Amino acid sequence: MTAAALDAAAFLRAARDIIPADRIFTAEEDRSAYDDQMAFPSDAHKPAGAIAPVSVEEVQALVRLANRTKTPLWPISRGKNLGYGGSAPVMAGAVILDMSRMNKIIEIDSDRAYCLVEPGVGFYDLYDALAQKNMPLWMSVPGNAWGSVAGNALERGKGPQPYGDHGATICGLEVVLPDGSLIRTGTGAMEGSATWNLSKDVYGPAWDQMFCQSNFGIVTKLGLWLMPAPEATMTLNLQLPHDSDLGRGVDMLYPLRLRGLIDHDPAWVSYVGIASYVGPRSNWYEGEGLLPEEKGRAIRDQLKIGWWNCQLNFYGHEKVIAAKCDAVMEAIGQHFPAKLTPTTWRKGDDFAGSKAGIPGTLDMAMINWYGGRGGHMGFSPILPADGKAAQAQFERTRKRYAEAGLDYYGAFAVGARSVININEILYDRDDERMANAVPRLMDQLISDAAAQGYSEYRTHISTMDRVAKTLNYGNGAMGRLNSLLKDALDPNGIMAPGKSGIWPARYRS
Ligand SMILES: Cc1cc2nc3c(=O)[nH]c(=O)nc-3n(C[C@H](O)[C@H](O)[C@H](O)COP(=O)(O)OP(=O)(O)OC[C@H]3O[C@@H](n4cnc5c(N)ncnc54)[C@H](O)[C@@H]3O)c2cc1C
Repeated sequence: MTAAALDAAAFLRAARDIIPADRIFTAEEDRSAYDDQMAFPSDAHKPAGAIAPVSVEEVQALVRLANRTKTPLWPISRGKNLGYGGSAPVMAGAVILDMSRMNKIIEIDSDRAYCLVEPGVGFYDLYDALAQKNMPLWMSVPGNAWGSVAGNALERGKGPQPYGDHGATICGLEVVLPDGSLIRTGTGAMEGSATWNLSKDVYGPAWDQMFCQSNFGIVTKLGLWLMPAPEATMTLNLQLPHDSDLGRGVDMLYPLRLRGLIDHDPAWVSYVGIASYVGPRSNWYEGEGLLPEEKGRAIRDQLKIGWWNCQLNFYGHEKVIAAKCDAVMEAIGQHFPAKLTPTTWRKGDDFAGSKAGIPGTLDMAMINWYGGRGGHMGFSPILPADGKAAQAQFERTRKRYAEAGLDYYGAFAVGARSVININEILYDRDDERMANAVPRLMDQLISDAAAQGYSEYRTHISTMDRVAKTLNYGNGAMGRLNSLLKDALDPNGIMAPGKSGIWPARYRS
């Protein structure tokens, strides 16, 4: 038994004085349920148990107890961080602090377009609350919206909308620090603040981002800005026929994003991604090895899609978005043989989906691409907004997938100045060859990207140290700053050791 597991046993016993036994989970099935969604039946990320507080006071009491027993905790909101580690901790033997029962929507302000939620509020909960009250506000949702509003925003998750940079829409947090004390960020630092979730301006340092992708505290309330329901909506569907077209796809869009003619980060998605939502690979090919090119062509023909596919969405006043759409079509028209035709749509339409902020789980179908107990892992480097760079990154990545014997699926979300390249590594968790290939592929991709000066925007729990080490300017100066902060805030090292490659002194080797 590891030291962490021993600490955890003492913690879980003493926790019964704080919360009832039916919210403390130590059975083998419970521990296995807080799964890392990986291919490998290893205990590398197995928690010692889980505990589910229902109030801020309980969270504080549990954190204080964890300091006494020196037990590592791993906070989750709903624990659906699929593709990046699910609900499992980096360090085996940690106790999951499962906040899914703290699920109150504390406030929705339709005039100033924000909400204040507890960590367990799911995208479906917020969607239902907005719908029931007929509020003129739209959410932004990730592709798979099974998780929580807070957990996803704290991971700086993304959605296909103007408010799609979820970390950037956070305004005002309530946080239990590793010593059990409670703070509020931003203007919420003032007793009776009238502007906590309204303004990111604040006197002195602003700390919201300090609690994103970090292990410096447990967020117990999160303010999030929402998009006022647009008067009208339009979409332009774009397709490019060849694998070699990505570069021009990026170069045609980023200047329009920069100038505000497009106001979300549109993504070029490779055809396997779209096919994977429609059905498993066996619909088209049952053979061994990579999907042959003629099968790829057959998929594209059947689904009427390009090698690269993109949706440009326009939101706002009818006249404004019509003018923006015209200007965009004029700017990019030369790249398309047929005249581009926008579609207008409404939130209630069948196909509106995530672009209308309607939560769904359709994207989960991708995990069945290879059949079996499907799995997927995200590799998501940040590139400059530059067609040549994107094309080269794609070629490099596809080559590595081919060496690993896996079909390539990637998307390039085009921002104003940078591109986030989200690659989905799809596999069958029960296929030994794939299970061995995936960690090697991840390692290779991280090295390849670092050699180009690209770091990831987010990574799986099994590669957090690996990615952190690539942030090596000044011989790892950022890592040293993170360690300094960690040791000052969390001297007993109880808060999510290893998250984002940040380890407390106790576990640092
Ligand atoms: C098919 C598919 C498609 C996906 N598409 C997208 C997508 O388009 N965009 C996207 O962003 N994601 C996407 N994801 C990833 C994932 O589903 C989401 O990011 C999910 O919302 C995260 O789960 P959660 O909200 O339950 O967060 P959790 O799992 O609860 O939290 C994630 C992590 O954040 C930290 N954390 C959580 N809560 C707290 C807290 N209260 N205090 C301190 N730290 C905390 C913890 O380290 C935790 O491990 C996709 C996944 C799949 C399977």
